[in-house]
Amino acid sequence: GKPEVSFKRVLLKISGEALMGDQSYGLHPPTVERIAREVQSVHDLGVEICMVIGGGNIFRGLQGSAQGMERTTADYMGMLATVMNALAMQSALEALGIHTRVISAITMNEVAEPYIRRRAVRHLEKKRVCIFAAGTGNPYFTTDTAATLRANEMSCEAIFKGTKVDGVYDKDPKKFDDAKRYDEVSYDEVLQKHLGVMDASAIALARDNHLPIIVFSLDESGGFRGILSGKGTYTKVHG
Ligand code: UDP
Repeated sequence: GKPEVSFKRVLLKISGEALMGDQSYGLHPPTVERIAREVQSVHDLGVEICMVIGGGNIFRGLQGSAQGMERTTADYMGMLATVMNALAMQSALEALGIHTRVISAITMNEVAEPYIRRRAVRHLEKKRVCIFAAGTGNPYFTTDTAATLRANEMSCEAIFKGTKVDGVYDKDPKKFDDAKRYDEVSYDEVLQKHLGVMDASAIALARDNHLPIIVFSLDESGGFRGILSGKGTYTKVHG
């Protein structure tokens, strides 16, 4: 039988870097496929799934502007990078037989649907995975903020932030042996201690709307499904 799942609709946020495998740039198709299978195993439970994927594996606005590019132009390039990642994920999910829609905050009708909230909700009700691309559509924001915005708009019960580590630590666990993982931590503590879960505007938007953020590792196979069924280690950021 299926394990008990207490979530009906969630948003999975991953960074662009999660798709590059061991490379230092771009997309690594076997890694994209692996994450698609993680999503599939949760989709199999009947959970409605939204996704937001970053673009940092291809382009970041801040990098471009540090090299002299105009900031808003560089940010639009970053948003376009997220569309490429979204299309790669759509392709991998559909290869597994999961109907998937890419919904872009920047209209590009030949490539992706425009963002229309009620239409996206309908897709979710029909168990289609919705990948929200192009961030918020605005420069000076990040895909973490886009994830929080869409999770609120779609009435998701939580954001699942898949990372390389199994939660939020008081210091970098890859550098310090004595780093301690929080089981739970408040939004305010994350902000005060700069715990690096997401950027401050994303955390504040989650806090103001009581949207829990669950930070877990996407590196272990079955991890996403495990967390949704109440197993494994993670950090819950909440009020
Ligand atoms: N971006 C933006 N507005 C948004 C979301 C993203 O301008 O609403 C741009 C920004 O330049 C950012 C880039 O897109 O650096 C890639 O997104 P992000 O850095 O969040 O990707 P991640 O770190 O998650 O891979």
